[in-house]
Amino acid sequence: MYYFLFDDHNTRNKAIMSENEYDREICDNCGGIRVSYKGSFKFKIQGKLCDYYSASGTFVISEDFLNVLKEHGYTGYEVADTKPYFGTVTRIGEAVTTKKYYRLIVTGRCGLMCDMKGDPAPICRKCRRKIGMSGFDTMGVSFVPEAYDGSDIFAFEDLSNIPIVSEEIKKVLKKSKLTNLRFVPLEEHEYHFDTIRKESALSALSKGRYYDELIEAWLKYGVVSKEELAEYGVNI
Ligand SMILES: [Zn+2]
Repeated sequence: MYYFLFDDHNTRNKAIMSENEYDREICDNCGGIRVSYKGSFKFKIQGKLCDYYSASGTFVISEDFLNVLKEHGYTGYEVADTKPYFGTVTRIGEAVTTKKYYRLIVTGRCGLMCDMKGDPAPICRKCRRKIGMSGFDTMGVSFVPEAYDGSDIFAFEDLSNIPIVSEEIKKVLKKSKLTNLRFVPLEEHEYHFDTIRKESALSALSKGRYYDELIEAWLKYGVVSKEELAEYGVNI
């Protein structure tokens, strides 16, 4: 069994991204935005100093966590420097000096995120990002075994920030007493972020806000019918 490795989502102990410098690339087909942070990643820690956080979607690990990964010779990740501070959503406090943190960059890959039948979530053919509002909706996600590169830590090509680990690595991490870890089996991960109501899709059509992959996905998942597309002058 494989698991997403999330943080524990505890409202008292959490990390929040601070202002960071970044480069931004926007896909002119789907409008997807790719952000890459420059320099040391700045974030704020609220509450206790734990070993693992998702700072607004960017995962950071403590030095203790990194040492466990190194001790076992695990593959599929890189780390980058961070600058942690204590703080809250609205306030930045003192710099954290007693514990060192690194940004976790997952490099292992297992292809596109699929539903439980192995059917991939729709992506933009130009930037290969998962497209939003596609109608893709699944209880449980999976990957195609042939697409998995065999790394110990890996991620979906189109959901590349969230680490996935095997049963064996889960056991090692649990035994290591690292704090703030939450393992969610891939097959129990409910993915409902890309649902869209018919009215919203029709409204997007009337405003001309669509592209080929979106239309294909809407038809595939029954968000709109061919007849409705024709009504809005979209020929397929
Ligand atoms: Zn794109």
